[in-house]
Amino acid sequence: MIIFPDLPEVQVEEVSVAEEITLTLRTTSPTASCPSCGTASSRIQSRYTRTLRDLPSIGRPISLVIHVRRFFCKKSTCTQKIFAERLPSLCHPHAQRTKRLQEALCQLGLRVGGQAGADVGSELGMSGSRDTILRLVRRSPQPATSEPRIIGLDDWARKRRLRYGTLICDLERSQPIDLLPDRKVSTVSAWLKKHPSIDIVSRDGSSEYASAIKKGAPHARQVSDRWHLVKNLAECVSVQLAKTLAQLRRAEERRPARTQAVQQVQQARQAEPTNCATRLERVAVE
Ligand SMILES: [Zn+2]
Repeated sequence: MIIFPDLPEVQVEEVSVAEEITLTLRTTSPTASCPSCGTASSRIQSRYTRTLRDLPSIGRPISLVIHVRRFFCKKSTCTQKIFAERLPSLCHPHAQRTKRLQEALCQLGLRVGGQAGADVGSELGMSGSRDTILRLVRRSPQPATSEPRIIGLDDWARKRRLRYGTLICDLERSQPIDLLPDRKVSTVSAWLKKHPSIDIVSRDGSSEYASAIKKGAPHARQVSDRWHLVKNLAECVSVQLAKTLAQLRRAEERRPARTQAVQQVQQARQAEPTNCATRLERVAVE
């Protein structure tokens, strides 16, 4: 089937197109396997209708109405006497959305966040509240990562001005990798000992972090983090500018005296011909 390539034993019974598209489906497999013991059974106990939200099509949301069967388990010792047939390639048990819709909402959540993902999804015909998207993101499997090599340590406030923990970021991947409950030397150094791959640690000016790194990863190089580097630079520049400003002010204050001295020199030069003439007259007399 083109619509459900992974579900050859599902038949479309009806298609209704309105504000949204509704597909009514029926399963055609003659048997189903008990989820507890795995025994295949063909004895139908009852039927019920299950509704799932699916990915939109031609800009309209899609609902799947599936007639699902309940079976008797044939194995007498099985604790599950009755079970509902499952559609593992389409949806998880008890889910209200298909796997592909859950995946799309999860990707939205990962890229733009819970509320923004819900807003964008609503525009695209993919219903899912902020809480639903965040739940899907939390359940999504974590990508396999290699051991961190360059990390950054910094405080994070559990309760501002009262309780602080330690945030550890992988600086090569630009992502947080752990949160420690406090910033004690023992806690941070214990974490570092478990990660011997670390070569470089970026930190603030805290002596506690310096001690923890020395204790937990003595081979690692400690560097100042960019924020504190810029902060220290700004402070040095401010001090230097203040000194220069003070020097300029003092120079400005001395300026009248200097101006007066210059005027005296100019007056002396203006008087110089007379003095020369006087000197010449004196020479003539002599
Ligand atoms: Zn069973």
